Amino acid sequence: ATFKDLNLSAALLQSLHDLHYTSPTPIQEQAIPLLLQGLDVAGQAETGSGKTAAFGLPLLQRIKPELQQVQALVVVPTRELAVQVRQELKQYARHIPNLKISAFYGGHSFRMEEASLEHPPQVLVGTPGRLTDHLSRKTLRLSNTAQVVLDEADKLLEMGFEEELDELLRALPRNRQTVLFSATMADDVKQLIANSLKDPKFVQA
Ligand code: AMP
Repeated sequence: ATFKDLNLSAALLQSLHDLHYTSPTPIQEQAIPLLLQGLDVAGQAETGSGKTAAFGLPLLQRIKPELQQVQALVVVPTRELAVQVRQELKQYARHIPNLKISAFYGGHSFRMEEASLEHPPQVLVGTPGRLTDHLSRKTLRLSNTAQVVLDEADKLLEMGFEEELDELLRALPRNRQTVLFSATMADDVKQLIANSLKDPKFVQA
């Protein structure tokens, strides 16, 4: 299959062309059509499989750039991954005008993050502790955030972020699309899928 067969927008196809991505990876081929339909997806995939584009391309396609609201939240275990995922999403979004993508994480200036919420990004990438700090201080609201990605879920749990994840999930609308990626499908990951995804489709790299 080609990216065009996956019904991606002209803007996204242009970015993929710029990046010299010639064809979708197996995880992209499986996940993108499901995600564009609005379904919840649980994916077993490692770094290097192309999982960031697998969740990122449909996420960007479903954003409304004319609305200044946090429409999508990507939760990642580490600051390095937050920076990297934001950077990758920005590359995919380069032909979509007026799309703001921010990254919030521990060690970053809380005040700067707070200031950036005065003109909210449509896409927010962040680590669990910093995101729940913003919820507690009421600097961030997630009531309009209808797309959520839990990336590297096994690592999120391994690092002890279960409580923070619960808090984030409670702040998100019930009526949302949830995507989860994990390198393994251990019991705690399966439990998180059962607790946070609705009728999930499973894909594997
Ligand atoms: P990830 O598994 O998301 O960490 O992606 C691994 C690397 O593969 C990243 O550097 C991407 O830029 C690259 N990549 C993702 N999808 C494709 C694709 N379809 N063709 C070529 N490179 C890709």
